[in-house]
Amino acid sequence: MVSDSGGLEEFRHEIRQWCATNIPPEWRRDQTGASDEAFVQFQKEWFQQLRKADLAVPHWPAEWGGGMSVAKQTILYRELAAHDAPRLVLPFVSIHHAASTLLSAGTEAQRTRHLPAILNGEIWCQGFSEPGAGSDMAALKTSARRDGDGYIVNGQKLWASGALHADWCLLLARTDPAAPKRHGISYFLMDMRSPGIEVRPIRQATGESHFCEIFLNDVFIPGDQLVGPENKGWTVAQETLGAERGMTMLELAERLGTGGFQWVLDLCRSPGADGRRPIEDAVVADRLATLDIEVTGLRILCQEFVEQRSAGPADASIVKLYYSELLQRMTDFGTEIAGLATHTELQKPLSSGWESGTWALDFISSWEWTIPGGTSEIQRTIIGERGLGLPREPRGK
Ligand SMILES: Cc1cc2nc3c(=O)[nH]c(=O)nc-3n(C[C@H](O)[C@H](O)[C@H](O)COP(=O)(O)OP(=O)(O)OC[C@H]3O[C@@H](n4cnc5c(N)ncnc54)[C@H](O)[C@@H]3O)c2cc1C
Repeated sequence: MVSDSGGLEEFRHEIRQWCATNIPPEWRRDQTGASDEAFVQFQKEWFQQLRKADLAVPHWPAEWGGGMSVAKQTILYRELAAHDAPRLVLPFVSIHHAASTLLSAGTEAQRTRHLPAILNGEIWCQGFSEPGAGSDMAALKTSARRDGDGYIVNGQKLWASGALHADWCLLLARTDPAAPKRHGISYFLMDMRSPGIEVRPIRQATGESHFCEIFLNDVFIPGDQLVGPENKGWTVAQETLGAERGMTMLELAERLGTGGFQWVLDLCRSPGADGRRPIEDAVVADRLATLDIEVTGLRILCQEFVEQRSAGPADASIVKLYYSELLQRMTDFGTEIAGLATHTELQKPLSSGWESGTWALDFISSWEWTIPGGTSEIQRTIIGERGLGLPREPRGK
């Protein structure tokens, strides 16, 4: 267990020591081309290793096993990135989206049932999007009909990250088809082992199958698995999306700033195919400097946002938009500098997340990040309307 009681420098020293002895040295090699099973097992083991040291959920409240200050979290994520630790890809939705929803809107029974289970390795996915209901999430058609002491659910979900390996799902379904779009939706916790659920993985351009379709055919959900009041699921979902756009960013920003930027820098300092070092080119040096400034700006923005969570109505959108588009610019630049060689790299380490150092694949993956949790266009609308107070765009009922 790493002690959280001392000062920042003491904490940094402890984390450095922990990283030096606990990060599996060969994980990149082992996770490159690994099977799905090997990926899942490795992610679960790595999560438990972090948990044993009280480092798996530092952003949770202290009573549930977190309570680390933002300053210490920043040090933790910076050191993990600097020591090239694997990312927690599989439990991402569990420790961020599910936890924040349970903490803000769940019942005490739901929190007591699920938060310790998440620490024990319970995996969650998010069933919000549907064919025809992505940006316009309120258009969702999956129905939940009251039946005795529960609900019967029918419909289809799309793009659910990690659903193939999930134990539970954060599910949005329509409970009142007659109500105006946003007012007839309810929020459920759905056991993925319930009869009537079929999960089909979708193969992506990078060769991975990160997200899935979920088909729901007469699935029974007990009434005590409703989160918040019936038909008020839209409000609960905003908390989940806020977590997706905001709190997760502290770690991602540190990863991009430490691992990502350092790799670009190393690449630019190494001799290319013609024997020249790209950094000697003034244009390359200028672009590097711009990226450095941008990444520093992102880190400051994230820390400020996480420190003052209730700061502004559009802050989470600003951070998400800035991160995702900077990730694109950086991986685009890395692909350009790495040149043709990167196009022959067909596999990346599975537990590395979006910044694996395999430039062409990272660049393809970077486009993913501008879509979930609301596309860049949707974030810009939120920033315009809620942040700047611009006139609202016309909306359907
Ligand atoms: C990597 C990844 C992981 C994901 N994980 C999950 C998950 O775990 N669970 C889940 O439920 N979903 C998930 N999604 C789905 C994601 O939330 C949706 O793809 C997203 O909301 C966009 O919806 P759509 O695909 O239906 O596109 P559409 O809504 O059809 O949008 C298509 C284009 O039109 C633009 N557009 C649409 N409406 C407007 C508007 N009003 N103003 C301006 N432009 C507009 C969009 O910005 C976009 O460019 C994931 C997606 C990705 C890429």
